[in-house]
Amino acid sequence: KSQLRAPEGVTPMMAQYLEIKAANADSLLFYRMGDFYEMFFEDASVASRALGIALTKRGKHLGEDIPMCGVPVHAADDYLQKLIALGHRVAVCEQTEDPAEAKKRGAKAVVRRDVVRLVTPGTLTEESLLDAAPTTSSRLCSGSRTETGAEPRFALASIDISTGELIAATCRLTDMPGELARIRPGEVLAGEDLASDEAIRNLVKEAGAALTPCPRAHFDSVRGERALKERLGVAALDAFGEFSRAELAALAGLLTYVELTQVGRAPLLRPPRKESADKLLLIDAATRVNLELVRSNQGTRAGSLLAAIDRTVTAAAARELASRLSSPLTDGPAVNARLDAVGYLADEPRLRQDLRDGLKAAPDLARALARLAFGRGTPRDLGAVQTAIGAAHALAARLLNAGEALGLPRELMAIAERLAQAPQAVAASLSAALADELPVNARDGGFVRPGFDTDLDELRALRDGSRKVIAGLQATYAEATGIKSLKVRHNSVLGYFVEVTALHAPTLTAAPHAETFIHRQTMANAVRFSTTELAELESRITSAAERALALELDIFARLTAEVMDAERSLSSASAALAELDAYAGLAELAVEQRYVRPRVDDSTVFAIEEGRHPMVEQTLRREQSADFIGNDCRLRGGGDDQNDAPSALVVTGPNMGGKSTFLRQNALIVVLAQAGAFVPAKSAHIGLVDRLFSRVGAADDLARGRSTFMVEMVETAAILNQATPRSFVVLDEIGRGTATFDGLSIAWAALEYLHEVNRSRVLFATHYHELTALADRLPRVANATVEVKEWREAIVFLYRVKMGAADRSYGIHVAKLAGLPAPVLDRAGAVLAELEKADGRPKPADLAGDLPLFQAAVSTRPDGSPSKLAEALRDYNPDGMTPKEALEALYRLKGLL
Ligand code: ADP
Repeated sequence: KSQLRAPEGVTPMMAQYLEIKAANADSLLFYRMGDFYEMFFEDASVASRALGIALTKRGKHLGEDIPMCGVPVHAADDYLQKLIALGHRVAVCEQTEDPAEAKKRGAKAVVRRDVVRLVTPGTLTEESLLDAAPTTSSRLCSGSRTETGAEPRFALASIDISTGELIAATCRLTDMPGELARIRPGEVLAGEDLASDEAIRNLVKEAGAALTPCPRAHFDSVRGERALKERLGVAALDAFGEFSRAELAALAGLLTYVELTQVGRAPLLRPPRKESADKLLLIDAATRVNLELVRSNQGTRAGSLLAAIDRTVTAAAARELASRLSSPLTDGPAVNARLDAVGYLADEPRLRQDLRDGLKAAPDLARALARLAFGRGTPRDLGAVQTAIGAAHALAARLLNAGEALGLPRELMAIAERLAQAPQAVAASLSAALADELPVNARDGGFVRPGFDTDLDELRALRDGSRKVIAGLQATYAEATGIKSLKVRHNSVLGYFVEVTALHAPTLTAAPHAETFIHRQTMANAVRFSTTELAELESRITSAAERALALELDIFARLTAEVMDAERSLSSASAALAELDAYAGLAELAVEQRYVRPRVDDSTVFAIEEGRHPMVEQTLRREQSADFIGNDCRLRGGGDDQNDAPSALVVTGPNMGGKSTFLRQNALIVVLAQAGAFVPAKSAHIGLVDRLFSRVGAADDLARGRSTFMVEMVETAAILNQATPRSFVVLDEIGRGTATFDGLSIAWAALEYLHEVNRSRVLFATHYHELTALADRLPRVANATVEVKEWREAIVFLYRVKMGAADRSYGIHVAKLAGLPAPVLDRAGAVLAELEKADGRPKPADLAGDLPLFQAAVSTRPDGSPSKLAEALRDYNPDGMTPKEALEALYRLKGLL
């Protein structure tokens, strides 16, 4: 690189810039100059547009103006966040030596600079960037493909750089959108071959992540395994799970990239965790969006299931809860172990309160550790570690104390044990060394406790003593010169100086004082002098202060190293704190919102008594002080002929009657139960669900350039191809996106298929009343409807779900409520009466005849013979008409009405 010679006429600084820029061509270069990060050339135009900041010029390059823009260092995080959100990468280039050093090499020498890190969407660690958007994940994900077997599999490894959490999993291509939606990466790494695959590119784009192609060589499983073992200091990874070659390759890609972007600084790494797809409830991307698990449809946390059930008191536990909701389990014993923990804490209000109080006082250990590991730690992070260790032991003691008498459940016992292993020796070192008040930056000094280090105490005494001497000098000089107003002051240019008014200046410039006072500066009405005594004291202060700071930084580094040596047990304690808070929060929720423990087993039962919708219930109570009406739901999947419950419910009823709410609440109850939470119901019995699907008839999805109908069919196809007898399927108004005939027939066939082939548990809401006929035909399909009643000519929604088909006429009442003109309502009433007289509920056999709602009235006379309209129509041949003839025909037909 150093061989690159700057062409003639290029300043040394610009030459340095160009060299660094060339090495980071794919990133915007933040080039540190004083208090600003400057950008030049193309970077400047891009950034000024993206950030809306002024584009200026600075000097010339090869005869042309150099475009420039800059952001102040203290506000850089905000700008970084904006640029990352827009998909840019930023290389941060800092001065790596003191400008004074550079001066020593020559007047023209340029301060040494180097890129200290690359900021990309998946590698953010700044608190401000992370916390600004708690709903957007900044996980970094890496993918690799296995070619063995008939169907390629994809290994996905991901890391949360801000905590070091490392996860690996493997999935099929079809499950990839769901997996990406679960992991929610900000950035996805892939080998160049994979990254150029159109399907992969689209998947990543739809997941809202940036795709970063990396050299294939980064994805070397052997290297990955070696690097992991080295970093974790273990001989084998077996203890953490069995990782496939592809998973190790994905992990290798991840670690290499992290190393590159952090430019050699090693982030914290927790032992990798293997998430096997068969141990997790599979929830595809559309279902996650539809159920608003961790994000509402507005993209906010508020309004999501997570927000409705989060009663945790620490940020780490809120993250833990989000991850549990995103990845519910299918492992019965594991689910029940979690439920035991929640149940125990729900039954012990005193213990729960004590634990929550203790947790509230515990700092975010995971993030403090991660910053320390990154070399971005502060004295306050050390303080946080110390406090957290204390909190961990206090909580462990409280738990074990309670457990002695009552038999602590397994999960809580394990948590207590991990908390009790938090290294007390580290806490002792920290408390001995750290002052009571800690500065934000180590560079500010003053964080080491007086009395901890005698050398440091001496230097501080020297520094402070000299300051006192200087303060005393003012009186000495005033007396010696007889100038009462003489002051000793300090500024950064002159250092310490004596200042007198212009009037008194001659006294100091004349004998005998001219010996002592050396003139430095004449101001409008003051004159400044220095003295050798002041200069000496000043250099004593500076050197004492510098040496004191160096000592403190030394101590800081030692303490940081001590913390990092205990990283394994600290990480484990920090995870235990988060889990404990998550359990206590769920217990608090259960008591506060009257949730119950679901019975979870291996059956295919789904039996909910008076189930409620977590979000709608809380909103109703908050905004209308109204109670939610609980509803039962009984299903049994698997298709065996136990007739105690249907496998599918067809839910009909007027709009706004509560159909969607009923459907979703049951899906949410599945998620909650398998995440290990209590559920909003009077009782619940749930046979473990392997896959959960939830769909609403799509609104037009123009943004993605697909028609509504196409989207619906693609999604329906996914369900029919993937749902199993253990799955749970919620379909809300599927088939809405097309003409009545198509929609109805597809909905009909889909339901039949679900019943016969998939045999899943299904809730199916529809406005096609004709579908209620399926209950007569298929043994395990039943009808349900939302109850309404008439009251003074209007309709009142009772939100009660009862068995049976809806009464058609309520649709007309709703239409009336909506303000449809009276003639339309009258006509609708007549048509309905006609329909009901004609054949009551349609039977499958005459379905075709029953379908078009207006056929009976338009095409036949009451006696069944063809109407005049029908006769006229029969003779028309649309293909043979000119547009004009067609229009005339239309007028003629209208005349017949
Ligand atoms: P539909 O799908 O039948 O059109 P929704 O499920 O969207 O109806 O319900 C409409 C509104 O009715 C909801 O936003 C909610 O405010 C209210 N609601 C629904 N179910 C209940 C219930 N069980 N108890 C109380 N209010 C309910």
